[in-house]
Amino acid sequence: MLRIDDRVGLITGGGSGIGLATARRLFDAGAVVYVADLDLPAAQATCNRLDNPARAIPLRLDVTQPDDWQQALREITRQQGRFNLLVNNAGISISKPVAELSFEDWHKVLSVNVDGAFLGIKHALVSMSEGGSIVNVASVSGSKPFASAAAYCTSKAAVRMLTKAVAIECADAQNGIRVNLVSPAGVKTPMWEKEAFFRALIEETGSVDEAYTALAANRPSQAFREASDVANTILYLASDEARHVNGAEILLDHGHTL
Ligand code: NAD
Repeated sequence: MLRIDDRVGLITGGGSGIGLATARRLFDAGAVVYVADLDLPAAQATCNRLDNPARAIPLRLDVTQPDDWQQALREITRQQGRFNLLVNNAGISISKPVAELSFEDWHKVLSVNVDGAFLGIKHALVSMSEGGSIVNVASVSGSKPFASAAAYCTSKAAVRMLTKAVAIECADAQNGIRVNLVSPAGVKTPMWEKEAFFRALIEETGSVDEAYTALAANRPSQAFREASDVANTILYLASDEARHVNGAEILLDHGHTL
């Protein structure tokens, strides 16, 4: 198993789904993990599972708020003396046909998914030590459009390009910091159950698993992945084994969206 014992990392959206699985994987690989979430009890629950208060520390952080970022990164650097891993994972989706999408819905999705990643990168670059790694979580929706997902697809396309633009900036600056992207297709997480159409599908099919099966039947990316599959890729990008990888996108889609 890859080891990242020298890493002090912050993962956003660490209270649920991919963030929870990633916190666990990075922790198991030796990192100190700050588990950040808008939902502090959820972040706390993740840390309780890891059961090591010195290496799994909950934080309330709203990724859309610059002050939250400044305060969190100041605190991490003060407590640990270094900061060298950021996983910009927090994200939301509001699935509606575009004509039914309110301006508020649109801004909410772009604010969490794009502003959140921008603010994380911007503030992390100031605090990050040489050899640091930033991993952004986008989606296949950043390169393949889906109906009723205009805001989400647009936001993930923006995060894709943001990643590549900052990766070039870091390469030019020779600051030793790498910025990469993981783009999964469907992953079994609570994100789906926050969507009205998915809750209706659960009703119709009788269970969450059946709803995933029904949804996969209509998607080019087919079967759903587990959150741990995404976490494993994030661990690789965080590790020194990926030291020459910068500006890359790893698609977790079995090639179906190529
Ligand atoms: P999830 O809903 O299970 O977890 C998201 C977490 O982000 C929650 O704990 C939530 O409280 C937190 N969050 C929301 N807004 C926040 C904010 N403003 N500040 C801080 N935290 C906030 O979702 P997930 O499926 O684990 O999604 C994680 C990432 O993976 C997202 O960026 C999502 O777009 C991406 N993704 C998910 C899938 C999928 O099928 N689940 C596929 C591709 C990409």
